[in-house]
This record gives sequence, C-alpha cells and structure tokens, in this order.
Amino acid sequence: MQDAPFLIAGAGIGGLTTALALGRAGYPCLVIEQRTQIEDVGAGLQLSPNASRILIDLGLEPILTRFAATPERLQIQEGASGETLSSMTLGATMMQRFGAPYWSIHRADLQTTLLDAVRGLGNVRLIFGRKVSTIVKNDDAGVVVTCSSATQSEDVACRALIGADGLWSNVADLIGTKTSPEFLGYQAWRGLVPIKHWPAHLPTTESRLWLGPKAHIVHYPIRRGGAINIVAVTSDTDNRPGWAHPGEREKILTRFREWAPDVKAALAAVPEWSVWSLFDRRERTQWGDKSVTLLGDAAHPVLPFLAQGAALAIEDAATLAQEIAKSPDHPAEAFRRYEMQRRPRATKIQDAARANGQAYHMRWPLSVARNLVLRRSDLSKRYDWIYSFKNNEN
Ligand SMILES: Cc1cc2nc3c(=O)[nH]c(=O)nc-3n(C[C@H](O)[C@H](O)[C@H](O)COP(=O)(O)OP(=O)(O)OC[C@H]3O[C@@H](n4cnc5c(N)ncnc54)[C@H](O)[C@@H]3O)c2cc1C
Repeated sequence: MQDAPFLIAGAGIGGLTTALALGRAGYPCLVIEQRTQIEDVGAGLQLSPNASRILIDLGLEPILTRFAATPERLQIQEGASGETLSSMTLGATMMQRFGAPYWSIHRADLQTTLLDAVRGLGNVRLIFGRKVSTIVKNDDAGVVVTCSSATQSEDVACRALIGADGLWSNVADLIGTKTSPEFLGYQAWRGLVPIKHWPAHLPTTESRLWLGPKAHIVHYPIRRGGAINIVAVTSDTDNRPGWAHPGEREKILTRFREWAPDVKAALAAVPEWSVWSLFDRRERTQWGDKSVTLLGDAAHPVLPFLAQGAALAIEDAATLAQEIAKSPDHPAEAFRRYEMQRRPRATKIQDAARANGQAYHMRWPLSVARNLVLRRSDLSKRYDWIYSFKNNEN
C-alpha cells in the first residue's frame, strides 16, 4: 500500500496539524471527520511557545498573527481578596527565552487557519460527515478501515491509520486500548466578551488567573484584543458528557457572589455561557498496534489546568511527521518510535495538569500554603520544561 494515503481520523487541532505536516512533507493523506463542519464553539486557547514554534515552522505565522493576541503577562490573583499572588511576563520575554511567542487565540480561528492550509495542499483530501467506524484489517503492510455516514459506508485502504479522534476515541477502542473516561467533578464554563462590552477597568492585554475554594477563573484576550475569552472552572457533581451545553447566567453569578468585585464584573459581562463537563483518562496501556497509532486527546487527554492539551497534540503531530520521514515505507516502525518519544512527556504533562487542578481549587487552610509558594515562585522557571520543547531535542 505504498501509494495509499495516511488516513487521519478527526479534523481537530491534532488531526489537521498532522495532515499539514505530512502533506507538506509530500505524503498523501485522507482526513475523515465525523462532523459536517468546524463549529464556531465560543472558546479560546492559550498556545505556549512549544506549540506556536511548530505552527510557525509550518508557515502559519503570517495568518495566525492576524487572529492571535500576545498577552503581556499572566497574573495570578486570590479570588476573594483580589490580592496578586504571582505573575509571569509573557510577550517579548517568551520570545527572548524560548524563541517563539505565547499566543492566545479563538479555537475556531486556529482550526480554520489549519483547514485552509490543508486545503491548499494537493495531496490531502478531507471528507466531512463520515466517521471511522471499524478496522477491517491491520498489519504491518497497511490498514483497511470502514468509513461510514448515516446513509452509506465504504472500506478504505490506507498506508496507516492515525487516530486523532479526541477524548472519546473510537480508534483507541478499536485497537483494544480501553480505559474508562473519569469524571473528576469539574465543570468548565466558557464565554466570550466583545471588547466594547468588557469593563473598562479590567485588563485587556493580560491573562489573569483567579484562584479560590473549589473554583478558578482565567481570562485572556483573543482576536488581536477584539474579544476576551473567559473560562470559569467549578468543582461540581453535575456531569454532562459530550460537547458544550448552554449555561445558566444566574447560576454562575451566584456561584461567584463572594469573589472580588473585578471577578464579578468580568463574569457579568459575558453575554452567553457554554458549559463542559471535564473528563480525564488514566494512561492508556498502548497508543498503537501495527499500522495504527493515536495522537492528541485520543492518546492522552489533558485537563485544562495547564493549557497544554492542544499544544501536546501539535507537538505529537510534529514528532509523528519527523518519525515517518525516517522510515516512510515502514509506518508501523515510525509509530512505535513516535509513541516511545511522546509517552513520557504526555504522561508528565497530564500529571502536572491534574496537580494544578487540585492546587487551584484548594480550600483554607491548604490555600494559605499554596499562596505562600506562589508568592515565592518564579513561574516561568517552573514551566521551562514545557515551553522549551523542540522536536528532535526531547
Ligand atoms: C475548558 C477547556 C480549555 C482548554 N484550554 C486549552 C488551552 O488553553 N490550551 C491548550 O493547548 N489546550 C486547551 N484545552 C485542551 C484542548 O482543547 C484539547 O486538548 C484539544 O482540542 C485536543 O485536540 P484533538 O485534535 O486531539 O481532539 P479534538 O479537538 O477532540 O478533535 C477530535 C476530532 O475527531 C472527530 N472524531 C471523533 N470521532 C471520530 C471518528 N470515529 N471518525 C472521524 N472523526 C471523529 C471529532 O468530531 C473532532 O473533530 C482546553 C480544553 C478545555 C475543555
């Protein structure tokens, strides 16, 4: 199946970055996406230098800088008192330290940019409205998968299959690497505020993180400062799997009524909320089998407390393309090398995100110790190991 394409299940950030990296390197790809279009979910993403560097290497800087904001700093505040606990300069400092920017961007802007770049390649085909439903055959020579929609299904022969199909990955189930998604009791409330409705006294060029008992809030600019993205994560037993659900404004305002006036002003400015239940997954027993591998959330979902899930998927794509280039006729070998390289880093980041979640939501008296540590710590040094990632060097 030498001339057959690499089949990528899922046109999320991981799948599209993989298609772009492989397509640019001359390998034919077929991307199968179950949705009929990319949805404009009201949500932002922070993209640290480990991820922005890769997107820049893929030639996307001129377009992404039209959409991204470059926050000047991240400031951490105590939710009730509003006291500043710590801060880290981003902006020019990130460029100096890591040679790449720290961006914040609307998820749909990033996905559309990736999609346009992929569509510009002659060797990548995209099919929306189909899902990878079954693996008919999988050996070292290639894979045959069944792709289906509500009305039809067909078998497709491919050189190899890359499961970039997210947290609820069907490809992972098909290769038998099952772990149950775990609801850890977190709800993420997300909203966007057009800058003209953002309270004038609140920062527009910074990321701000507010910590309090059983909740935290983060807000940062996107769309070159034209809007503010806000995420409030609460510890909550209400568990609604899947994509976003509409959130009740009164419920969130009541939940944070004891917090600092700036927090309440920020929340009150949000016109519409979406709510997501956050699910985790323990380490998968395997990421691949013969000519199949997993990538992004399908392999290693990351709780959003470190803003690294999409970044890791982008890193995965770069490493996968690099390993395929070393043995394009033997994807199974490339996949095993890729998995060996990526697993330790992904596991470490998953663990760090879980730990951040616990620290962010601490209650008194543990929060006193946390605040003391934050006041004394140099955040940028703490995250050096994450932001300094470069392909070929890890
Ligand atoms: C509240 C919140 C905030 C976050 N903030 C950040 C942040 O600031 N920075 C960051 O780096 N990350 C962040 N993340 C994490 C990030 O959103 C994810 O890690 C990232 O989107 C994963 O990308 P992916 O391509 O692996 O999966 P997904 O984005 O889930 O894409 C998977 C795609 O596969 C498709 N699919 C599923 N099954 C099939 C099938 N059988 N066949 C075909 N297609 C299929 C799906 O429709 C979907 O389009 C955040 C997450 C949350 C919940």
